[in-house]
Amino acid sequence: MAANSSIEWTDATWNPTTGCSRVSKGCDNCYAMMMARRFDGQGNGYDDTTRMTKRGVDWTGVVKTHEDRLRQPLSWRKPRRVFVNSMSDLFHPIVSFDFVDKVFATMALADSHVFQILTKRPERMAEYLSAGKELWTRRWPEAMECLGEDGQMTDFPLSNVWVGTSVEDQEALDRVDAIRPISASVRFLSLEPLLGPLPNLDLAGIDWVIVGGESGPGARPMRKEWVTQIRDDCRDWQVPFFFKQWGGVNKKKNGRKLEGRTWDEMPEIAGEILTSEA
Ligand code: SF4
Repeated sequence: MAANSSIEWTDATWNPTTGCSRVSKGCDNCYAMMMARRFDGQGNGYDDTTRMTKRGVDWTGVVKTHEDRLRQPLSWRKPRRVFVNSMSDLFHPIVSFDFVDKVFATMALADSHVFQILTKRPERMAEYLSAGKELWTRRWPEAMECLGEDGQMTDFPLSNVWVGTSVEDQEALDRVDAIRPISASVRFLSLEPLLGPLPNLDLAGIDWVIVGGESGPGARPMRKEWVTQIRDDCRDWQVPFFFKQWGGVNKKKNGRKLEGRTWDEMPEIAGEILTSEA
């Protein structure tokens, strides 16, 4: 069974790795960290990934790779948008490129699905994907063999893999520059939790923008003018704009309408607009 997701811009989650460590302010109230703490001791991949400190929950820095989860998407019949590693970061430095090869081999085989990889480490993602055709001619076939498959790779970049990075404020804007040159069918930004204004956002090379406020206890506020400014920049650059949520302590009450409507725009792929019902 796929892990169905309540995240508005995806259908399901797939976590071939678990655990992480903080990168920047956007990680302070990391949802995955809180959930991993809740699951600690239940033997489902989160043991030892978190610890309690005087300031509250923190990651230990342990990141686990789960070979037994690699084939999961191959058993999902209904085509889905799949968020890769909602509970981790595929491009965490601890995750070897050999393991990333296996994740990509799975995504190549499960080509009825769209895979959405979101990272706060786009430089490492760019380093990995800069290997270009070498990946599918030399490295991915070895990974296929590890998965017990003999399929041939003929595609680079994989048309069903979208690559994204998270940006919370202007200090993190170098991540946009890191993702811009990556060869991918869709390059996207998740501006969540949005913690400050991002004026005059340069969206050259970007195919999709998601905006969201932080939610849960201790949620930091997001101002409306930060959101409308990004929405207007998306219009100017003709980039689809997806408004996920206002967030806050009571996320449900605050909803996801901006100026009286929802904004669920998605990238256009091969002439087809993927709607949230896809
Ligand atoms: S990179 Fe993502 S998963 Fe890792 S600590 Fe930061 S917000 Fe959490």
